[in-house]
Amino acid sequence: MTPIDLRSDTVTRPDDEMRRAMASAEVGDDVLDHDPTMAALEERVAALLGVEAALWVPSGSMGNLIALYLHLQRGDRFLAPLGAHVLDAELGTAAWLAGGMPHALHSLTPEAVVAAGGGESPYYGLRTTLLCLENTHNAAGGTVTTADGHAALVAAARSIGLAVHLDGARLWNASVALGVELRELTAGVDTVQVCLSKALGAPVGSVVAGSSSFVVEARRVRKMLGGGVRQGGVLAAAGLVALDRIPRLAQDHANASALAAGLRSIGWDVPEPATNIVLASVPDLDKALLSLREIGVLASPMSGKVRFVTHGDVSQADITEVLRRVGERA
Ligand SMILES: *Cc1c(COP(=O)(O)O)cnc(C)c1O
Repeated sequence: MTPIDLRSDTVTRPDDEMRRAMASAEVGDDVLDHDPTMAALEERVAALLGVEAALWVPSGSMGNLIALYLHLQRGDRFLAPLGAHVLDAELGTAAWLAGGMPHALHSLTPEAVVAAGGGESPYYGLRTTLLCLENTHNAAGGTVTTADGHAALVAAARSIGLAVHLDGARLWNASVALGVELRELTAGVDTVQVCLSKALGAPVGSVVAGSSSFVVEARRVRKMLGGGVRQGGVLAAAGLVALDRIPRLAQDHANASALAAGLRSIGWDVPEPATNIVLASVPDLDKALLSLREIGVLASPMSGKVRFVTHGDVSQADITEVLRRVGERA
């Protein structure tokens, strides 16, 4: 029985087209000069996101860390939605390395942003300087912030003088699900991070983007963190192929929806997914994951639930097969 891997959209393997692009990439030394393929990727992503400049980084965590490092002074408080990747899944580097004091927002509304970050505080109070958004929101089940919702949050942050960073690891999914341009979902932010190695299928790489002056500083911090690479064009070439695949994400969303509907029809407690992440509530998480593993369905724990993530290496037929296996077990 071949396992069907729905643990994450990071499990995709580069296909032949991507490997050919990597093999034939034009390269240079990106630390000494600027690798031409890296430069092409960065320009293309900056244009897509509607910002001045962009910088390739080896991981999304490094992209977020670079942005937070440059936004925050030691001891500054930053706001982020409960369960945000920067709060829970980056080893506390927002505090440990970027010096920030995290504050989780239990409900992400403009009012909550102003209530948490605005107003006078005594001299010994914290200074709040940054709002960190996440679209789609991974731990909430790949949920989407609309362009209007995004604009209202940015306006609230601005009204109390906060900078805004957007963790857009899956911003592509939000853009496809809403049918809006990426730039509408980045409007007004200072910095944004996007992942090429999730459902777009690149083996490695994210991009952190913002103003030209931000990227000049970001390049220094990337080097400081050990993220300067030499002939990075081999990796950037995969990223360029990945960008051609944004429209394909609609299929992942359809597959996630079909999976959720199928699970519901056999009695599972599963809300309709907004994008490619399906969260199922189960009475016993460990037992549920183990039992799925026994029938060759790999899922992961997230927010106390079973998380299934659809991606390019999982077909419609695989989803049908998952439902057959789970149905037989039930
Ligand atoms: C995956 C992910 C990242 C970055 O992860 P890396 O594994 O470091 O590339 C950041 N934010 C969110 C929401 C993610 O899902």
